[in-house]
Amino acid sequence: MADQSNLVVAIDGPAASGKGTLARRLADILNLRYLDTGSLYRATGLSVIRAGGDLKSEQDAVKAAENLDLSTFSAEELRSEEAGVAASHVAFLPSVRAVLLDFQRSVAANPGADFSGAILDGRDIGTVVCRDADAKIFVTAALEVRIKRRLEELKGRGETVIEARVRDDMTARDQRDRDRSVSPLKKADDAWELDTSGMNADEALAEALGHIRGTGPQ
Ligand code: C5P
Repeated sequence: MADQSNLVVAIDGPAASGKGTLARRLADILNLRYLDTGSLYRATGLSVIRAGGDLKSEQDAVKAAENLDLSTFSAEELRSEEAGVAASHVAFLPSVRAVLLDFQRSVAANPGADFSGAILDGRDIGTVVCRDADAKIFVTAALEVRIKRRLEELKGRGETVIEARVRDDMTARDQRDRDRSVSPLKKADDAWELDTSGMNADEALAEALGHIRGTGPQ
């Protein structure tokens, strides 16, 4: 059973909204175990491609999810645009989500003795994975801002970027995430929305900390 003092924070939002950076920094400050749930879907998608499978085949994707080994992927591979697009295809499949759900819940319930709790980021943390989270933040930003951030992130990693391609990929991915019938990207009714369009990472962090500590906007 989860420890009574276990703080669980759920962070959701669309691609390049700033949720990953925010979650990582909150984890450091609040001593929480951080789980980037997108990496589970990214690794599943890449595993299917590596095995020469079909991203839309439920059988191929479930097999990949069941045998997932995150250590076989570099951070660069996981953060690539190819991985993001592959992730959103396998994330569409309910049976893949079911395989990954138990692991995510077990991290939230048992983050480890060294941590004061867990923080998970993704698309359905507040609505499905951790419905009883102590704090739920839905991070958004205008599409143009998100495209600019993603371009900077990819350029910073030395990837060749074509703006029109990034725009198309991100728009299509957001749409797939919002429109799917199982666990769509959606703000939980009891989540607090943080629009980071006009904020830098420090400002977003200060707002989120204020909210979690009960000193900021509720
Ligand atoms: O957050 P990130 O961009 O790494 O997620 C990659 C993809 O994985 C998303 O576009 C989404 O399709 C899927 N995902 C999901 N549910 C989550 C986390 C990620 O469907 N909790």
